Amino acid sequence: MVRSPNRLVIRKIASVSHLPETHQMIQKMCRDFAENELKPHAAKCDREHLFPAKQIEKLGELGLLAIEIPEKYGGAGLDALAYVIAMEEISRGCASTGVIVSVNSSLFLGSIYKFGTDKQKEKYLPTFNDGQKIGFFALSEPGNGSDAGAASTTAVLCDDQYLINGSKCWVTNGFEAEAGIVFATTDKMKKHKGISAFIVHKPCHGLSLGEKDDKLGIRGSSTCILNFEDCSVDQKNILGEPGFGFKIAMIAIDAGRIGIAAQALGIAQASLDVAMDYAEKRTAFGTSILKLQSIQNKIADMALRLESARLLTWRAAALKSSKKSFTKEAAMAKLAASEAATFNAHQSIQILGGMGYVTDMPAERHYRDARITEIYEGTSEIQRLVIATNIIKQYHGFNS
Ligand SMILES: Cc1cc2nc3c(=O)[nH]c(=O)nc-3n(C[C@H](O)[C@H](O)[C@H](O)COP(=O)(O)OP(=O)(O)OC[C@H]3O[C@@H](n4cnc5c(N)ncnc54)[C@H](O)[C@@H]3O)c2cc1C
Repeated sequence: MVRSPNRLVIRKIASVSHLPETHQMIQKMCRDFAENELKPHAAKCDREHLFPAKQIEKLGELGLLAIEIPEKYGGAGLDALAYVIAMEEISRGCASTGVIVSVNSSLFLGSIYKFGTDKQKEKYLPTFNDGQKIGFFALSEPGNGSDAGAASTTAVLCDDQYLINGSKCWVTNGFEAEAGIVFATTDKMKKHKGISAFIVHKPCHGLSLGEKDDKLGIRGSSTCILNFEDCSVDQKNILGEPGFGFKIAMIAIDAGRIGIAAQALGIAQASLDVAMDYAEKRTAFGTSILKLQSIQNKIADMALRLESARLLTWRAAALKSSKKSFTKEAAMAKLAASEAATFNAHQSIQILGGMGYVTDMPAERHYRDARITEIYEGTSEIQRLVIATNIIKQYHGFNS
């Protein structure tokens, strides 16, 4: 189990590119785990849509499913930087595993830790950290994704029970999870200010699951529709105050974006790893292709995008740990890292030539996995909107 680092040391991270000792230890532990336990299974998980259950349990044993949750609740009690370092290494081995960890640790446990009552914290935090049980986060609906405030799923209070009706889609971990957070409107007149968050258990009367979605990438992680028909949820399972759900979702997603940035870094790094290995061995016109300038230019561009996105991600994580505002920085990190992942995966295939295009090599999987990082937890268009809104506010003091 990983232990708490010295917080003062962690705060210095914003301005440096070298990691403190504790974080180096986490990086090494996660890198070894990814190399030995995730990478060898990643292609099979992808091909067969296999949920990596054993690997998730092992991550739980290592304390890596609740990195930022305090030790008193059974977490590792580490900071956001430790989390992004772990997420990058895990995703470098298997991006599907990365998103499963991210939804459980950040969106599910992170929201309960931040907004839950003492009872909710005691109930969920120590029991969703070992990989036996995992959580989901159901915000998106068939009719709205980016415009999450337009939720049409409803929750009506009848005596001490809320009756939930509607559908949530794209729910990561929806198949395997035992509980999750569901957003539903309790007061339609108030629009996004009428949305509330509920902790919902599976199985639950009135809750049914659609088919697993057949996705382009991250195929080891499941997504599905959750249908609610008079699904009854105890009043005590509301998370935060009624009408506070949209705020909870936005705060959770701000933090979630740093984790997705780290997932994207893992894919970008894995793409560079494959390209470097192949380029060194491959010869053309009597020389290693690594000696060709046009290949070296691609490598330089890949490394540049990767390393600049990593610094943005570490900065966002450091700001989160020091309890400063990080909305703009998280959006910048996710935008830069997801575009680096897409770029690097594209270039990696180009460097491998025909071998990049077939499933014998992981480059094509990285290419497919990278694509989602520009879509979920806010598309690239939405990240640009968030960044621009914050910059305009900084300059002119108003929102665009
Ligand atoms: C594999 C996968 C896993 C997911 N996991 C989860 C999950 O666990 N929980 C969950 O709640 N959701 C999840 N999602 C949903 C995901 O967050 C949404 O797909 C995403 O937010 C985009 O919403 P949308 O698909 O409805 O696209 P839309 O919102 O319909 O957007 C369509 C296009 O319009 C653009 N657009 C929309 N609004 C604007 C704007 N204001 N300005 C500029 N451009 C705009 C978008 O950028 C995009 O290009 C997942 C999705 C996928 C594919």
